[in-house]
Amino acid sequence: EPSSLSGLPAGVGEALEAEGVAELYPPQEAAVEAGVVDGESLVAAVPTASGKTLIAELAMLSSIERGGKALYIVPLRALASEKKAEFERWEEFGVTVGVSTGNYDSDGEWLASRDIIVATSEKVDSLIRNGAPWIDDLTCVVSDEVHLVDDSHRGPTLEVTLAKLRRVNPGLQTVALSATVGNADVIADWLDAELVESDWRPIELRTGVHFGNAIEFDDGSRREVPVERGADQTAELVADALDTEEDGQGGSSLVFVNSRRNAESSARKLTDVTGPRLTGDERDRLRELAEEIRGVSDTDTSEDLADAVEEGSAFHHAGLASEHRSLVEDAFRDRLIKCVSATPTLAAGVNTPARRVIVRDWRRYDGEFGGMQPLDVLEVHQMCGRAGRPGLDPYGEAVLLASDADTREELFDRYVWAEAEPVRSKLAAEPALRTHVLATVASGFAATREGLLSFLDNTLYATQTDDEGRLAAVTDTVLDYLDVNGFVERDRDGGSEGLAATGIGHTVSRLYLDPMSAAEILDGLRTVADGADDEGAAGDFVPADGAGPAPDAGAEADADDSGFTTYTRADEEGGDPAAEAGEPDAAAAPAVTPLGLYHLVSRTPDTYELYLKSGDREEYTEVCYERETEFLGDVPSEYEDVRFEDWLAALKTARLLEDWANEVDEDRIAERYGVGPGDIRGKVDTAEWLLRAAETLARDVEGVDGDTVVRVREARKRLEYGVREELLDLAGVRNVGRKRARRLYEAGIESRADLREADKAVVLGALRGRERTAERILENAGREDPSLDGVDPDRSASAAAT
Ligand code: ADP
Repeated sequence: EPSSLSGLPAGVGEALEAEGVAELYPPQEAAVEAGVVDGESLVAAVPTASGKTLIAELAMLSSIERGGKALYIVPLRALASEKKAEFERWEEFGVTVGVSTGNYDSDGEWLASRDIIVATSEKVDSLIRNGAPWIDDLTCVVSDEVHLVDDSHRGPTLEVTLAKLRRVNPGLQTVALSATVGNADVIADWLDAELVESDWRPIELRTGVHFGNAIEFDDGSRREVPVERGADQTAELVADALDTEEDGQGGSSLVFVNSRRNAESSARKLTDVTGPRLTGDERDRLRELAEEIRGVSDTDTSEDLADAVEEGSAFHHAGLASEHRSLVEDAFRDRLIKCVSATPTLAAGVNTPARRVIVRDWRRYDGEFGGMQPLDVLEVHQMCGRAGRPGLDPYGEAVLLASDADTREELFDRYVWAEAEPVRSKLAAEPALRTHVLATVASGFAATREGLLSFLDNTLYATQTDDEGRLAAVTDTVLDYLDVNGFVERDRDGGSEGLAATGIGHTVSRLYLDPMSAAEILDGLRTVADGADDEGAAGDFVPADGAGPAPDAGAEADADDSGFTTYTRADEEGGDPAAEAGEPDAAAAPAVTPLGLYHLVSRTPDTYELYLKSGDREEYTEVCYERETEFLGDVPSEYEDVRFEDWLAALKTARLLEDWANEVDEDRIAERYGVGPGDIRGKVDTAEWLLRAAETLARDVEGVDGDTVVRVREARKRLEYGVREELLDLAGVRNVGRKRARRLYEAGIESRADLREADKAVVLGALRGRERTAERILENAGREDPSLDGVDPDRSASAAAT
């Protein structure tokens, strides 16, 4: 039993020993000495795979043993359930674990009974905004991968969330786990924490670059790995590791590439290396594993993964189902899968060591800066850190790939010899502060401008900056924006300026919307409100186009409104008859169509728009004029180059959504818009969430009638199920889905009620003879007797044919 451990639940020491933790690793020992089991705050900056998780567990378990409650903040949603599963092994010592996923608008009340809660920083932020009562009970918070405060999109949320938790709970133990970074001391300073910093690794790591016929390592050693002209460098390196027996077996490899699609194609290609090297026994076991993978879901991804796994190769990325991920990880650890091609996303979070790590791509496409950008040193170091399995390999090898001598030199300078970058706060930027200032005021963390600034003084930004005025200046700009858009009220009468969130400001904060998204949506909804041509769209509203206040926005909107045609139902795509929704008012307001709503949400900053490729500008400009009457809000002039391009990019995104809601095949959509199936899902999910928010916001807009709200809901439901309007009822039955709903509909079964009455042979025929599926669907539709016993499958085939 690790000797220095006390203050943990009885039996934990023995359990650790049984897991193979005979003694603490040196950084863990240092953490204990720094007081991590006595409630001390700590920053642990140590290399990947050096046992950071155990440091966190020691902190949480000891805190719980003293009667407390712990929160573990994960950097990625995909890691939440994995961490939960890991911590669940403490349940036998009476420690309960809960994971908080799902919508960003609930307060997760049930979590109050859990000892350890696992969640992303966005989820924690939203739980605070929605007033989760148990937040006050926390005694220990762990922030995994805290160096991600450097990320311009997600970092500010982590930073502000930690500041809020520490504000609510002055005695809170904060344990921050970090990769080795340039300035861990600054993070420790910010969190008032002890610092444990170390380069120690459980197994020696050699890092090098492969060029020509050899790898050159940082320790001066060389390894010949010849690559024939025209052969693939990665394949040769994977083969070389597999053909070198160090412990009675060849070594496995982990190949890092820059996109999900590349991970999939790399895995496919590497089956040529892994397949021929499998034993008969391994083939049998892999075939079983492939079947298990196919059983998880019947998607293309599942099929592709299973095909590769049968040959001993696999891919791994955040788009995989979590069951798929753990099957792959387990089989890789068992050495059954010989090579995994992965995106960097999970490099840090997943414990999948390999003898050899190959960093194939060191650049990736960057939407913000455009073009291919080199990865951060920190990221590459984290990938390399996955090399070497303690107890199995003599050392780990991490290899970067160069195709010419200059690149070899560059890779040595840029990554092998380089120190990881220092972490820098990205908080003092308008988009980040817009949302966090509103939430900070709405959740009662600040009631005055001074109070707000003093709250922001608890952030990493404030710890790092020399420019004291900058945060205040950006905060003031943001306050102006929030004020003008009606999200906060300022009271400048007293000595210090009072701040309060308005009703709608509270709603926006709880909905977890970027205030700029909310402003855009509200603006769009105002154009459909009754009498939009006078007070609605005008007033003091500032359009959220990123271009700042436009003084004549109201006048423009007036002019455009008069051009809108009267809405009739037949204007809608397909002219679907739908009697139940009722006819809207024939006011001079635009027709509310799904495309109009999809465009509205696609142009908010909460949506990543699709990029315009060559030829797209012409195509979508045409669409823009053809469907002009459907847009909510004024179309920018073609002469406003940037705004117009943005508008078209949002239109392209909206068309993707419209295709999805019109039952266009997933593969067709992927091809038409140049995206992967995972991207379609992502766009659809985001739009669904924003439309749900739009429905809530609509209630706060004067003049928006019930009919508009119904249309917003319908447009959202069509996205949820990916179907046209007439299938909404059917597709809502569990296990039906868009394709089966269409086939049922074509067989004359048009609703849930029809499913309860229909001839079972017809149902079975429409479902292509899948009996278990048919029975499940009938049961879910509420049929009294869903059994298909005695239904003649031959008759069902002919029934479907008619
Ligand atoms: P990190 O979070 O730093 O990347 P992990 O916490 O995932 O690293 O630890 C890597 C591996 O080392 C895990 O399999 C873990 O069980 C093991 N491990 C951690 N501490 C010890 C220890 N003291 N003795 C033996 N193995 C350990």
